[in-house]
Amino acid sequence: MTAEATLQGVQLRHFVNGIWNNDDAAGSFPIIDPSTGVEVARAPIASPQVVNQAVEAAVAAFEDWRQTTPKERAYYLLQLADKIDQATEKLALMESRNVGKPVNNAREEIPLIADLLRYYAGAARVSEGVGTAEYERGSTSLVLRQPIGVVGLITPWNYPLLEAVWKIGPALAAGNTVVLKPSEITPVTTVALAQMAESIFPPGVLNVVLGDGTTGAAIVSHPAIGMVSLTGDGGTGKKIAKSASDTLKRVHLELGGKAPVLVFNDANLDYTAEQLSLAAFANSGQDCTAASRIIVHEDVYDAFVELFLDRVSKIVVGDPADPETQIGPLVSERQLERVLGFLERATTTSARVRLGGKKLDRPGYYISLTVVTDVDQSDELVQKEVFGPVVTIQKASCDDDMLTMANDVPYGLSSSVWTTNISRTTRFMRDLNFGTVWVNGHLSTVPEMPFGGFGESGYGKELSAQSIDEYSQLKHVMITSID
Ligand code: NAD
Repeated sequence: MTAEATLQGVQLRHFVNGIWNNDDAAGSFPIIDPSTGVEVARAPIASPQVVNQAVEAAVAAFEDWRQTTPKERAYYLLQLADKIDQATEKLALMESRNVGKPVNNAREEIPLIADLLRYYAGAARVSEGVGTAEYERGSTSLVLRQPIGVVGLITPWNYPLLEAVWKIGPALAAGNTVVLKPSEITPVTTVALAQMAESIFPPGVLNVVLGDGTTGAAIVSHPAIGMVSLTGDGGTGKKIAKSASDTLKRVHLELGGKAPVLVFNDANLDYTAEQLSLAAFANSGQDCTAASRIIVHEDVYDAFVELFLDRVSKIVVGDPADPETQIGPLVSERQLERVLGFLERATTTSARVRLGGKKLDRPGYYISLTVVTDVDQSDELVQKEVFGPVVTIQKASCDDDMLTMANDVPYGLSSSVWTTNISRTTRFMRDLNFGTVWVNGHLSTVPEMPFGGFGESGYGKELSAQSIDEYSQLKHVMITSID
């Protein structure tokens, strides 16, 4: 299959009330293959009228959908999971071409996405809560867990299908109807998801509108939407929180990260360097949990840097369609320019580029895997999310300094600790101010455990039963017996 056929095999349209709609009155957006820089398709931008139609369809569909039992909703989600499984190869090729993700990585993602839907199918049926009981004599109290209504789900470009399912899974399982908007540059697998949902869900339960920030803003400001969930940039999150305050809708924000990675003097250095070389650069570093900020105890600093540089230099960067490729291009020219801007500005600081640091001399948005040492804690390379294949390594003189450096960023999404010492493990899992702490690992998430950040990484949790709660509202019913 050629790149063009893979992308263009999916006709990029809005999916509103079970009907395909190619309204492009508000314009269209080019879909570019990041490995070549060539435009391969165009996607329409939904006008506010189309957003309104989608919300109205979701409002109408909610009347019946809210009556479904958890078991019924579970069966819908299980059917979608089966369809995703059947389309694994096709979806992997689409995601790879649209995002520039190595095809083998995309192939690994798709079964996880189907599994996530199966998790939500099960979790919907076993929700827990406060026990029904008489908390006041003569009155029985119980809690009704109810859906919010119509929820707006806005997703980014780094894991388009995965992010869509992270959000539609709990939203639908909880009994909400959905207006989903993918990133304007990576809509392909989300449209494919709508194609698979078409024959499963009643019209209006899952609507997809394509478009950019203006489309997203129209979703956020719509008074009939009860909640918005965004994964994206911190600036976008702040705009959404402000706009949502006008209608007091619930907001869930999964924003950026700047994960500290603490390598202690008792760590297994070979293992650590090997694992981190992959966790730092996976998805070209375009991951909010990327192991981007390594802090190493001075006793093992030189040895670790040497091992890490050796491992990173062996990683294969290349064409995403080649199964040997481990890291592909960045997603867009804009993202490439953004990352190169960080590296350019770093030349005016004490930072020392030990590996990479350059755009690759080939078509597409490639940058060499970059390792930078001798940075200051206040440097923007340490403080800001680069969202590219750029890793800093800092030296620290003791455990206390490592903790101070780790927590000294505005973000609080994820972190990792590399040690064989149980006392260090327990201290740092308690004191690191991040929503995830991995010990001797980095990057893994599991459906059963919550994911979400502190501080400027946003609020609200994805994954786990907790995320079903995010998309639910609880009602206390108190029944007093009169005899
Ligand atoms: P973005 O926040 O602009 O886009 C994310 C989503 O929000 C897209 O669907 C976009 O169309 C939508 N959006 C944009 N403006 C909106 C608005 N005002 N109202 C409602 N929706 C709006 O992010 P981006 O421009 O694609 O990437 C910029 C930076 O964001 C990246 O460099 C990276 O640092 C960060 N980012 C983080 C994540 C993450 O997983 N945390 C994902 C993607 C990007």
